Amino acid sequence: MTAVEHAPELVGEGLVRLTRALGEPARDLVILAEGNTSELLDDGRIALKASGSRMRDATAEDFVIAEVEPLTKLLTSPTSTQDDLTAALDAGVVDGRRRRGSIEALVHVAVQAVAPATFVGHTHPTAVVGLLASVHAEEAFTHAAYSDEAVVIGTPLYVPYAQPGIALGKLFHERLREHVDRVGELPAMVMLANHGIVAIAPTAEGIETLSEMAVKAAQVRTLAYACGGLAPVPAESTTSYTDRPDIKERRANINSGTM
Ligand SMILES: [Zn+2]
Repeated sequence: MTAVEHAPELVGEGLVRLTRALGEPARDLVILAEGNTSELLDDGRIALKASGSRMRDATAEDFVIAEVEPLTKLLTSPTSTQDDLTAALDAGVVDGRRRRGSIEALVHVAVQAVAPATFVGHTHPTAVVGLLASVHAEEAFTHAAYSDEAVVIGTPLYVPYAQPGIALGKLFHERLREHVDRVGELPAMVMLANHGIVAIAPTAEGIETLSEMAVKAAQVRTLAYACGGLAPVPAESTTSYTDRPDIKERRANINSGTM
């Protein structure tokens, strides 16, 4: 049974603009049809990028509207299969073209299932994927390499590799749930091993800022590893810095897109 429909009139301009901005070739976040974005709608559904379209050329036609609840059931069912997911993401044939929600739809659904968030942006930045495909992947982002990334990104959640589709959706959901139970809030950034990043923010600008900072954070680490190893900012220093009222205010401004 399908959980999506093609309804371009429900897709916001901000989401389309964000998608095109993340797809700009100079940013090296995605190529071809890589990556996807979503926005939570007032009725609890999400506008989600369709499969097979390029982010840089996205229009409202390149999205589907997905229901969170039936897709969450696939995430939590021990017996759900990739075929079940494929069927659930099928929005039918529109203007001679089959429209289907992104194969990575469950990453977006999992965020909403754990705690509602307005925007989610998933990309495959070369700089970050390189690091996440290296022997340093798991520990690379556990400590801040410099103070500004601690302010913008905080500590990202790391999710080990899983095949894109139902397997990644289930693992991502499980790790995100554990994180929120432990920390009390969603992470702003999730690192997917051998895959890419998931930015979570209340504004489209926040998604762009987080994605840019993730690229810089990866480049800094790659240089540090090339220079003999990473010597991170001491953890207690990062905590006292990000707890400072002026820095908290800055973080709030970044999140709300008013920086
Ligand atoms: Zn991906």
